[in-house]
Amino acid sequence: MQTDELAIRKRVIEGARTVVVKVGTNVLSRDDDTLDDARLDALAQQLHALRQTGRRVVLVSSGAIGAGIGLLGLDRRPDDLPHLQAAAAVGQAHLIRRYDDCLNRLGFHAAQLLLTANDFRHRGRYLNVRNTLRTLFEFPVIPIINENDTVSVKEIQFGDNDRLAALVANLLDDPLLVILSVIDGLYDGDPALPGSRVVPLVTDWNESILSMAVATRSRRGTGGMHSKLEAARTVTSVGESVIIADGRHPNVLGRILAGESLGTLFVGQGEPLPAWKRWIGYSVAPRGRLELDPGAIRAIACRGRSLLPIGITGVQGDFHKGELLSLVDAAGVEHARGLTNYNSSDVRRIAGRRSEELPALLGQLKYPEVIHVDNLVVTRAAST
Ligand code: GLU
Repeated sequence: MQTDELAIRKRVIEGARTVVVKVGTNVLSRDDDTLDDARLDALAQQLHALRQTGRRVVLVSSGAIGAGIGLLGLDRRPDDLPHLQAAAAVGQAHLIRRYDDCLNRLGFHAAQLLLTANDFRHRGRYLNVRNTLRTLFEFPVIPIINENDTVSVKEIQFGDNDRLAALVANLLDDPLLVILSVIDGLYDGDPALPGSRVVPLVTDWNESILSMAVATRSRRGTGGMHSKLEAARTVTSVGESVIIADGRHPNVLGRILAGESLGTLFVGQGEPLPAWKRWIGYSVAPRGRLELDPGAIRAIACRGRSLLPIGITGVQGDFHKGELLSLVDAAGVEHARGLTNYNSSDVRRIAGRRSEELPALLGQLKYPEVIHVDNLVVTRAAST
């Protein structure tokens, strides 16, 4: 088993041309909420060493709000958005300066990218982010990404940096996402109880994995194990791998990339999805829902078919042609997502009808399918 695990780690690491490292606030902060300079310095050195192996490297760093709380002399994390945003504004400047100082000593620069969820939803912005990162990889630079907390309100929030890191990983070619936290990985029980052990390898994703996350929301960060597992699911669903490990271990990145059994490795499920499908499946928020009959679910989830109007049993929401829809079964469980060829009023008109009836219903046949297979992504393995 151990040999198998190491062989799988070796294969995953050899295939990783891009390493996206996500580091949490708790890894970077001392107990008094000030930045732990020694740890930040060690991280910068590890990122630099990773670049020297010829890989592309991106850091998604939390810690801005945490650092800002310390710098502003607040005695605890504020509850209201304006104070959190003020802390982020002060803390982010400090955080990036510290990274830049550390990287400068190694002949590198820090490049700051502050993103909101909108930057991933809009195709044009998404491509801009990708192009900027690809260009930065040409230089002795480590791109350092954080959420643009000072402008992020509910609608444009990622929620946590684990999700942001997953979306960044899905944007790049041949990625490995390494999430550095203050926990050794996924435990098979409550990490606080003796006898609970780290699961070294997760090869098959199933819903019971999510339930293994004990709700451990930390004082400073926002994520906890649950959001890390959601991030792992987002990345493994598109066929790429994720490692969750303790960021306080000395040379943790070097050891992971050397293939050591550290933390939990979540192996990518199936063949990697092309970039266009990653964007459809995981970056855009759905604008409506179509309920499908079991035959249609099987056709799209198991047989790789397009969605035809005949399989649609319900339509929810108002949407335009080209917008993203969630495809659910009668119980409301999502199986796939895709870009619709028809707006909501047309879909309501043709739902449950055969493709041959479409010209009579719509005046002309625009498309035989409501969602073409090229614009459709299966997001959940069908149980049938
Ligand atoms: N963006 C936040 C910060 O820099 C962190 C969010 C999170 O911990 O997930 O402080």
